Amino acid sequence: MTRTILHCDMNSFYASVELLQYPELCRKPVAVCGDPTSRHGIILAKNEAAKRYGIVTAETIWQARRKCPGLILLPPHRERYSAYSKQINAIYCRYTDLVEPFSIDESWLDITGSMHLFGGDGKVIADEIRAVVRNETGLTCSVGVSFNKIFAKLGSDYKKPDATTVLAPDSWQETVFPLPVSSLLFVGKTVSKTLHQYGIDTIGQLAQCSPAMLQNLFGKMGQQLYEYANGLEHAPVRPYGERAPVKSVGNGTTFSRDLTRWEDVLRHISILADTVAVRLRQHGLYCTGVQVAIRDPSFRTITRQKQLPHSTHLTRDITAACMELLHHSWQMPHPIRMLTVTALNLVPAAQWSQQLDLFSTASPEREHKAEQLEGAMDRIRSKFGTGAIAYGAAFAEQRRKTAHKKGNDGPAFPESET
Ligand SMILES: [Mg+2]
Repeated sequence: MTRTILHCDMNSFYASVELLQYPELCRKPVAVCGDPTSRHGIILAKNEAAKRYGIVTAETIWQARRKCPGLILLPPHRERYSAYSKQINAIYCRYTDLVEPFSIDESWLDITGSMHLFGGDGKVIADEIRAVVRNETGLTCSVGVSFNKIFAKLGSDYKKPDATTVLAPDSWQETVFPLPVSSLLFVGKTVSKTLHQYGIDTIGQLAQCSPAMLQNLFGKMGQQLYEYANGLEHAPVRPYGERAPVKSVGNGTTFSRDLTRWEDVLRHISILADTVAVRLRQHGLYCTGVQVAIRDPSFRTITRQKQLPHSTHLTRDITAACMELLHHSWQMPHPIRMLTVTALNLVPAAQWSQQLDLFSTASPEREHKAEQLEGAMDRIRSKFGTGAIAYGAAFAEQRRKTAHKKGNDGPAFPESET
């Protein structure tokens, strides 16, 4: 069945909330920034007038002031933003219980099942929601109306501020195909750049690519890109208040210098495995599979998975499984630009019994000790910070990083090479 999904995106949210207090400033260039007294403070948000001066989010106050000397700076009020966010989502919930916030000022609404109660037309409902939000809060939003979440989001970005854009099942191509690939959600600079190298710049060109080719270039994400560009994305809009179930826990790092030696690979795998294991334990989950992704400087990525003989949430086991995968799939000294470690096939702790496989060298006592050790590490970290303790291989790197950090903040501190 064709769905009707709205994506509602508040216009210049932080700046608009601040300007409710100062209506006289609305037409002047205004930005909300971290610390207005520091020229190194960063622009968090800007109003339409400031946008016209080319002010962009995340640039420094100093850069922004050069573009617009008269820029008015306001400090942020985060509690106020979340109060408005709640109020606005409560408005959305009058139209459907399927309201999934994407960020503090963006939500998806699936109105397929309820739209007949409100006249039955997606665009009319979108316009009504915009008017209600404006009347009740004084804030404006842009709404995209489409048949999947990706295009709804594209629609809300398409026309700003205070507008509705419909991307209908029978006519979306004429609007969507000419747009640059980067207008698709989750398509960042790196992916756009890689696609550009293959002559793919528009969503239309991306839609023409074979899924196999995209999979070769981007792994699992390639299939997703194909679906996004062809309007085949079908992820559901979650009911309000429901958190996405944790399906996998992963962490990756891009290295400033490519890795070429086993000892460096081991060191970084243990660091990544450690962060993954800690997060599993925080979620009360165990994994029964592990995946490693290795990317080289030319962005060729290989992904390898392994089922584990027993479920685990221990750094030791995840590191060992990843290293085994690497021994089968990596040849020293082929440079590694990025490594990602992901724990897969997660099971709740309750399902985990002492299902040690009979043929492994593990003994119940050894397992118990490893559990106790990493549990103790968690407690030490919660008391003294993440950097307080780590496994040997990871420790050297952590020490290096800490030294580096100190070097940035305080007086010159030489980076200790380990
Ligand atoms: Mg917004």
